Amino acid sequence: MKLHEFQAKAIFKEWGIPTPEGAVAFSAGEAREIASRLTTDRFVVKAQIHAGGRGKAGGVKIVATPDEVEAAAGEILGMNLVTHQTGPEGKEVQKVLIEAASSIKQELYVGVLIDRKLYRPVVMASAEGGMEIEEVARKSPEKIFKEWIDPLVGFRAFQGIKLGFKLGFDARLSRKLAAFLAKLVKLFEGVDAALCEINPLVLTAEDTFIALDAKLSLDDNGLSRHPNLAELRDITEEDPLEVEASKYNLNYIKLDGNIGCMVNGAGLAMATMDMIKLSGASPANFLDVGGGANAEMVENAFRILMSDPKVKAVLINIFGGILRCDTLATGVVEAARKLHVDRPIIIRLEGTNVEEGRKILNDSGLDFQVADGMGEASKKIVSIIQSFT
Ligand code: GDP
Ligand code: MN
Repeated sequence: MKLHEFQAKAIFKEWGIPTPEGAVAFSAGEAREIASRLTTDRFVVKAQIHAGGRGKAGGVKIVATPDEVEAAAGEILGMNLVTHQTGPEGKEVQKVLIEAASSIKQELYVGVLIDRKLYRPVVMASAEGGMEIEEVARKSPEKIFKEWIDPLVGFRAFQGIKLGFKLGFDARLSRKLAAFLAKLVKLFEGVDAALCEINPLVLTAEDTFIALDAKLSLDDNGLSRHPNLAELRDITEEDPLEVEASKYNLNYIKLDGNIGCMVNGAGLAMATMDMIKLSGASPANFLDVGGGANAEMVENAFRILMSDPKVKAVLINIFGGILRCDTLATGVVEAARKLHVDRPIIIRLEGTNVEEGRKILNDSGLDFQVADGMGEASKKIVSIIQSFT
């Protein structure tokens, strides 16, 4: 689950990590009010969306007076921000963070995340702060320093100091950085984070470290342990179809192709997406209805797939194990009747009660293309895409 910068910074504060003074505003007037309460002569107005790269896209403005804060907030609120992380459709700004501006001596990057290959958290630091860290990683990976955390002994002070030296700091500043990083790691573990990044982490004119930006993503599987954090979810930032799917415990992720797919099991779903690609088409989504789906879940899944206007055809690929083929067929037939489906539907069924399932589909009077095996499903997709062009 992604958090907004202002939410992440509130959590930072609780864990003793310094952040600029500020508050979130939902209107230009409110932004002005917040600014007039801050004791500073320079303010930052920052768009709050679930994506980075706001600075370059015009979503971060530095101004001098509360009047200018009001004007800048008025400009940013309602803006459709397109950054390298939002995708071409962009994100509408609904709130802005108003902060006292910091005096920057140096911008750094620090992050804590899980190294999936080594099965442990890794702390990363780079002197190339304020830039797209993805680009630094691509072009000059030697400029990103890493310290892995042994889960049994935790993050040690020497590791933080070592990172400080690698960034070019003296012993005094390296110890300061180590203390900062130790708090960040505590927070990371304490909230069950999946990713925690500060870009830029700033060294101020007074030689203190302060988190100028904050990106925090929580591990969805840990949310049940943090009900107060789970409440921070902002569904207005999420894809509406994904929000709808999550209500029914469906693992649905929207993609940008035009072949909708409904599959049971994540592995089969991946294989199916590969097969769609190999056929020369592109999947409109990932959807795992789960091993134990019932007819109602299948119906909901089908409705969600069909409400994506980009979907030109649907491929249903089910291996009947716990989810029996006749249950699936019943769900699909009911959904197709209700939704007055006007697009081709290819179904490949195999496994428990497959004959009963096929019979339900054939007797329904609806126009399904039942495929015998993955190979035939692929051929049917090819002929459908050819009919588009
Ligand atoms: P992002 O572009 O979405 O990652 O947003 P950031 O929070 O990182 O802000 C983008 C850039 O704005 C930073 O890299 C800074 O250069 C600049 N910026 C943000 N806050 C301040 C501030 O308080 N003082 C100064 N001088 N620059 C700031
Ligand atoms: Mn940033």
